[in-house]
Amino acid sequence: MPAKVVNADLHCHSIHSDGTLPPSELARRAHERGVDLWSLTDHDELSGIADARQSARDLGMGFVAGVEISVTWAARTVHVVGLGVDEAAPSLAQGLAQIRKQRDQRAFELADCLAAHGVKDAYQGALQYVNNPALVTRTHFARYLMQAGYVPTMQAAFDRYLGDGALANVPVRWATLQEAVAWIHEAHGVAVIAHPGRYKYSELEFDALFTDFKRLGGQAIEVHTGSHSPKHNTWCAVVARQYGFLASCGSDFHGPALGGYDLGDLPALPADLTPVWAALEHAI
Ligand code: AMP
Ligand code: MN
Ligand code: MN
Ligand code: MN
Repeated sequence: MPAKVVNADLHCHSIHSDGTLPPSELARRAHERGVDLWSLTDHDELSGIADARQSARDLGMGFVAGVEISVTWAARTVHVVGLGVDEAAPSLAQGLAQIRKQRDQRAFELADCLAAHGVKDAYQGALQYVNNPALVTRTHFARYLMQAGYVPTMQAAFDRYLGDGALANVPVRWATLQEAVAWIHEAHGVAVIAHPGRYKYSELEFDALFTDFKRLGGQAIEVHTGSHSPKHNTWCAVVARQYGFLASCGSDFHGPALGGYDLGDLPALPADLTPVWAALEHAI
């Protein structure tokens, strides 16, 4: 861990899930862009961690192992990031393997559903972009929809076909919040609610989510993330103070061609919040 963390980026994706760069290139890019504490947080997958850790070590950059777990809470998807996890912990590995199986099934159903709406060969099309056959995501389908000319942008792929309530929305039951937090804890990690600003919950539901998470031992939320507006950032800082959560931050970078924030580009966290790395010294 650097003596004083100046620029932490604790959320991004590699080719081991739906990103477009290998962990070694992400590490180099993060380092070049001034990141001094970095985490790779692929969706439901830890296979990139060894490469990420070694690359960070070679560059002399602080690193914590991470993962972004897909959870279903109150009938919607919530992402829970585990930071400082031991990737050899059996319950985490087994839980993630189970989620990846559901992803396989979902990919077939999604392709059928897209076919029913006139999109041909979506499964094969999405697979062109998949580097890790164990992990097919909607991002891969979105890239095919764009390349094949069905939509002009990634956003349009989600709006028209893949998002909640869109034409080819296939609901999935991911892990429960309790399971995800327990797996992270058994792997000696810190559980973090990713990008709270993205969820379409009511005020009451948000209160129940944060209260539930806290009761289960969840310690942190992302305050600054690439998927937040400035308003979301301000709201999450208030939430962190109100519920006593540590504050995390991460670009959620997926690759140079996929838009969004780049590694290391987030503004510093509000000084009165305790950063999540205060609880990560054991893991760095
Ligand atoms: P999945 O976990 O397979 O359901 O895919 C979710 C992924 O899709 C997220 O991690 C994002 O990378 C991507 N995603 C979700 N919504 C959007 C959107 N509106 N625009 C671009 N990418 C999105
Ligand atoms: Mn993603
Ligand atoms: Mn996410
Ligand atoms: Mn993410």
